[in-house]
Amino acid sequence: MRPDPKQDELRRDAAPATSHGGESFAETALRLGGKSAEEARRTGKIDTADDQVEALFAPQYQTTASPVHRAVWNRRIAWDLFQFAPAAMADRINLAMNRAVRLIQQKKQDGMLLDAAGKIREDVLQALGETGYWGLLIPQRYGGLESSMVDFTRLLTRMATVDPTIAGLASVHGCIGAVDPLRTFGTEEQKRRFLPDLATGRRLSGFALTEPGAGSDLTALRTTARLEGDSYIVNGEKLFITNAKPGRTIGLVCLIDGTPSVLIVDLPMEESETFQIRRYGLHALKHAHNNGLIFRDFPVPAENLLRTPVGDGLT
Ligand SMILES: Cc1cc2nc3c(=O)[nH]c(=O)nc-3n(C[C@H](O)[C@H](O)[C@H](O)COP(=O)(O)OP(=O)(O)OC[C@H]3O[C@@H](n4cnc5c(N)ncnc54)[C@H](O)[C@@H]3O)c2cc1C
Repeated sequence: MRPDPKQDELRRDAAPATSHGGESFAETALRLGGKSAEEARRTGKIDTADDQVEALFAPQYQTTASPVHRAVWNRRIAWDLFQFAPAAMADRINLAMNRAVRLIQQKKQDGMLLDAAGKIREDVLQALGETGYWGLLIPQRYGGLESSMVDFTRLLTRMATVDPTIAGLASVHGCIGAVDPLRTFGTEEQKRRFLPDLATGRRLSGFALTEPGAGSDLTALRTTARLEGDSYIVNGEKLFITNAKPGRTIGLVCLIDGTPSVLIVDLPMEESETFQIRRYGLHALKHAHNNGLIFRDFPVPAENLLRTPVGDGLT
């Protein structure tokens, strides 16, 4: 049988992306394209992390099996993969959605959604907690509503028509904030310790990765945490962090022994010598708090480190 060049391309694309002496495909391509060894190494590191993420998924969910990838590489659109008949929304999610949407509609109507600084009021965020809004993606045994991702996105879509910032904050808290990393990688002890307060909204969360010198280039991270006794001592600065303010909980990406790692950090209620907020104005998402965070010898309990089964913090 004549080999199908497109299938070969697919197979090559699906193969582990290492080629030359352990270099990733991207690293080799960049090196051959004339980039410096340092630039090729750094981009290659991110590429390798991407491969490790892919390997976490069953073959049918990997990028090479996606309808978009197949449409591009096979020149054939697999319409059957777009057929989708979602199940009816679970009653508890429907109830929470109606309550949350009604609450925000009412607050808007009463002119009580924003505080004097134009940010969503804290009492509104707390009242949303009573509807179950912050616990949507948290398992019921930790006090959440255990929504499916399909129902979660339906709720977000509806909430976004009422107030996009409130919808965005559910995603920041539940998807990139502390909820998803804990749900996915937390130990049973960490889940019991953090998830109930994240479910009620007593603690709201965010994700702190970006730094003044590290945005798209995650290998340029400078924030470090070193183990001293029972604590990690954190030093460094984060920038552009949504929903970051005193009293929030963040997934902090930092270097531990040179490896990107994630610590779950309860930010104190007050600023101090060891923890400060850098305030500035940012137009995008202007009704949410977005701040810089400065840590100077800031202690975090060692048991707040998330350990991933494969890869490292970039994965
Ligand atoms: C509203 C808002 C909310 C945010 N919330 C968070 C948050 O909650 N947590 C968090 O950690 N961060 C947050 N960020 C930061 C955001 O993730 C970063 O801005 C983003 O990662 C880009 O980094 P940067 O701004 O340093 O831009 P840079 O990385 O400096 O990029 C600048 C430009 O160069 C381009 N570029 C960069 N590298 C390459 C390359 N190799 N090849 C070609 N082009 C390139 C980029 O596409 C971009 O156009 C937020 C930002 C905004 C605006």
